[in-house]
Amino acid sequence: MAAIPAYRAVSVLLPRSSRLMSFPVTRTTSPKQRPHDDDLRFGRTFSDHMFIMNYDEGQGWHDPRIVPYAPFTFDPACCVLHYAQSVFDGLKAFRGADGAVRIFRPSRHAERLNQSCEKLCIPQLDPALIEESIAALVQVDQDWVPGKAGTSLYIRPTVIASETFLGVHPSHSYIYFVILSPVGAYYAEGLNPVKILATDTHVRAVQGGLGAAKTAGNYAASLQAARDAQAEGYTQVLWLDGVHREYLDEVGTMNIMLRIGNEVITPPLSSGTILAGVTRDSVLTLMREWGMTVNERPISIHEVMAAAERGDLAEMWGTGTAAVISPIGELGYRGQKIIINRGKIGDLTQKLYDTIIGIQYGTLADTHGWTRIVVKEPASAAA
Ligand SMILES: *Cc1c(COP(=O)(O)O)cnc(C)c1O
Repeated sequence: MAAIPAYRAVSVLLPRSSRLMSFPVTRTTSPKQRPHDDDLRFGRTFSDHMFIMNYDEGQGWHDPRIVPYAPFTFDPACCVLHYAQSVFDGLKAFRGADGAVRIFRPSRHAERLNQSCEKLCIPQLDPALIEESIAALVQVDQDWVPGKAGTSLYIRPTVIASETFLGVHPSHSYIYFVILSPVGAYYAEGLNPVKILATDTHVRAVQGGLGAAKTAGNYAASLQAARDAQAEGYTQVLWLDGVHREYLDEVGTMNIMLRIGNEVITPPLSSGTILAGVTRDSVLTLMREWGMTVNERPISIHEVMAAAERGDLAEMWGTGTAAVISPIGELGYRGQKIIINRGKIGDLTQKLYDTIIGIQYGTLADTHGWTRIVVKEPASAAA
């Protein structure tokens, strides 16, 4: 039997809750070399530790712990490898100019992970425990939060079915884990408008399906369309609804928004085919506070093309944690091509980006309580 590791409990700062959660921590004995802030890319390097918790039927979720980052070992018949019963989420921690580390909207992300679990027949987790697992892991690996402007620590909570069986039914055991990856600025040369292609041959999600869950199969289903679009010189796919092949759903793995004249439009969540983005919710909140006309309503590709023809399609952008805001400079559809705002980033797109980034890095007031400070100052300064 392996030697029993020396556990040291880590208690988490709990600014908004009276509950104190602590998790056993097994520290790595071989810390990795951290990449330089200038060399960071997306999702290539991972920090020294990970958070794990297990679920077994009859026992519930048990044994939350922080351990050295390491591979899992699976039986080849492990059900997640065959039927993709898995969900994930994605959020970020930022090192501000003041040295503090802030996580953006962790409770909303915890809630969404549970909503994804529900759709995949995965037993719910305690949302507070999800949030605290993330905060505790970021505290343990706080040196992995990069400091250069535009960089951040990407946080990936995931749940996978872990039972060994080849039958289609919900698994009787699961693993929840959280890993951390330091990432560079999404756009190294600033916000660069992307080219998107509306497809009416591929479909991402349909009503009654899993489009509203962050689940593995949705991303596997998106690959062929993305490959086809890239072959035609486009960066992303603009997904249309699966029934009429007409109404805008999402763009790539982001939510889609556009401004026609003075109206900002984004498709409603009611169809069940769209992932409820936390960035989407954040920018909708901001624009409504700014007194803008914002409508969550169905919008067809024909309406978009007609508005572009009239010269009324002012701006179009995607929203998501990885890039925050991704301006769209060109839209292709059935052999037609439209250039939006002369291929440049629009004023509103820029303002939304600057505001969200300002809140995330602590240079703008967080009037909505969106950020949670998990480290007050760098460890070296505190020493
Ligand atoms: C994650 C995701 C988004 C964006 O959600 P955020 O919470 O803003 O990161 C949008 N669409 C899809 C399909 C996604 O997977």
